[in-house]
Amino acid sequence: MTYKQFDLTGKVALITGGNSGIGLGMASGLAEAGASICIWGTSKEKNISAKKILDKFGTQIISFSCDVSNENEVNDVFLETVKIFGKVDACFANAGVGGSAEFADFPTDLWHKIININLNGTFYTFRAASRHMIDRGVGGRLIATSSTAAIHGAARSEAYAASKGAIITMVRGLAVELARYGITANSIVPGWVETAMTSPRVGDPKFEDRVMKRVPLRRWGKPEDFAGIAVYLASDASSYQTGEEFVIDGGYTRF
Ligand code: NAP
Repeated sequence: MTYKQFDLTGKVALITGGNSGIGLGMASGLAEAGASICIWGTSKEKNISAKKILDKFGTQIISFSCDVSNENEVNDVFLETVKIFGKVDACFANAGVGGSAEFADFPTDLWHKIININLNGTFYTFRAASRHMIDRGVGGRLIATSSTAAIHGAARSEAYAASKGAIITMVRGLAVELARYGITANSIVPGWVETAMTSPRVGDPKFEDRVMKRVPLRRWGKPEDFAGIAVYLASDASSYQTGEEFVIDGGYTRF
């Protein structure tokens, strides 16, 4: 350990959508820094294989099957998480889905699905976490995964962009409301990252030509690019940082 404040030994982090992609990248960094990890996802197979990856760091790793768009399930599984780990110090609301269609014909059920998982899921998760953190009385960390779709015009992805924009404004409100309890709230705003969500676009010559050329660092983001920010935001080093958006996009939104 080079900088003591990044040592997460003794801390517990919950990561929704921690069984793949960006969530697994963050969970790996947190576990390597010493945190015990609870991951939530709907796929039992993905939960099992992610636990195997995380187990190598030697901290306590547990996965739960939980659909974050189901309010009762989130409340129940959060209580179960606290029962097993004793506490949650840092809660990462990262679970999310994409979905695109021409706006004039955008299917209503697709709109609701995206909002239910991405936005309502973040609400249910953070509400359960903030209750726990307020009751515990020692502060805590709320970290949401937004998207650069909240910044640039995301054609045919208005539902996704709306959910991610709303996450940023929810988090800003939480930062102000919960500061009195020592709870911080921040958003991570990824650009184009190579994960299961973006796999249809990776290697697509048209997409690579039109989009990757506009990424100043000239590459796709990787799940491990999100480990450092996760450790920082879960650590004592970020105790005076709240209400902020951390854009990690290889410079895409600056170009
Ligand atoms: P991913 O690998 O597909 O990860 C999505 C995660 O969300 C999976 O762990 C998935 O687990 C979980 N999930 C989906 N629906 C869920 C539900 N109803 N309840 C609980 N968990 C659920 O894709 P990713 O790119 O890493 O996405 C992670 C987050 O980053 C998302 O919020 C996404 O919007 C955001 N993001 C991604 C990019 C990008 O370029 N990849 C860019 C900006 C933001 P199960 O399949 O087991 O449910």
